[in-house]
Amino acid sequence: MKILLPTSTAGSLPKPSWLAQPEILWSPWKLEGEELVGGKQDALRLAVEDQRQAGITIVGDGEQTRQHFVTTFVEHLSGVDFEKRETVRIRNRYDASVPTVVGAVSRPNPVFVEDAKFLRAQTDQPIKWTLPGPMTMIDTLYDAHYKSREKLAWEFAKILNQEARELEAAGVDIIQFDEPAFNVFFDEANDWGIATLEKAAEGLKCETAVHICYGYGIKANTDWKKTLGSEWRQYEETFPNLQKSRIDIISLECHHSHVPMDLIALIRGKKVMIGAIDVATDTVETPEEVADTLRKALQFVDADKLYPSTNCGMAPLSRRVARGKLDALGAGAEIVRQELAA
Ligand SMILES: [Zn+2]
Repeated sequence: MKILLPTSTAGSLPKPSWLAQPEILWSPWKLEGEELVGGKQDALRLAVEDQRQAGITIVGDGEQTRQHFVTTFVEHLSGVDFEKRETVRIRNRYDASVPTVVGAVSRPNPVFVEDAKFLRAQTDQPIKWTLPGPMTMIDTLYDAHYKSREKLAWEFAKILNQEARELEAAGVDIIQFDEPAFNVFFDEANDWGIATLEKAAEGLKCETAVHICYGYGIKANTDWKKTLGSEWRQYEETFPNLQKSRIDIISLECHHSHVPMDLIALIRGKKVMIGAIDVATDTVETPEEVADTLRKALQFVDADKLYPSTNCGMAPLSRRVARGKLDALGAGAEIVRQELAA
């Protein structure tokens, strides 16, 4: 990036109320057919415009064309039966009714490539596209076919790699894989999770990122966070191996979390997307609060590798709050840019 402290969101933004009911996850679409196709594109354009007005450097689609960051990708794969549902415990935290893997999984058609081309056409800024990571995908499904989390993760990694290569060809500058599961299943992450992530990113010439967080600001996650004690050291488990991985950027939760800032030193050499916006509260940060988090992070990451971001997606927030937080992120990064230039 030419600009210092390039800003971006972790991924999702709230959808307009005419497209889907706001402030909930898995919100059903309010339109159908051609109207839905057009509605998603209009929402994507608005998300891009909000980011432009807020001075966000690396533009995303706000995940306006998907219902959920994992489910929508999986819906487009064969081998998964969405009628056959089982209740599983997601990330050891909350029960959800999920679809079942009933046969060999494959990707008959590209999933997000047309959407990415549409985003590419909206802006000359660098663009980022998010995909679920292999381990987070298997954790959001019931597997009645492979009966092995690792085997299924490798299959998803191959599928994600096909999608990622086509997203790169569509002009995406950064492909980000979301792996909140890395903060829960440390042993599996180290045994094969990071390896499957690298498989998903194999051969890409664009930049790659992995987003590891403590989840959306929904009750199941905030309740879980209360059980984690005063210091959250989960990143300590996977950062040493991620530091050695081929992934370029690590996206992590920071502002208002109990993550000790010095854990960032474990990924020295990587670019770091620092969450400087708390997505679990409606209180909008001031630019100065954002700047303060970034200044603290600068103790552990070089300025040319610091990418200010949000702790996680903002899908469950109101549009007004999310927009305020976007503005604060843009303005807070600008404060620190000025300081670094002085
Ligand atoms: Zn997240």
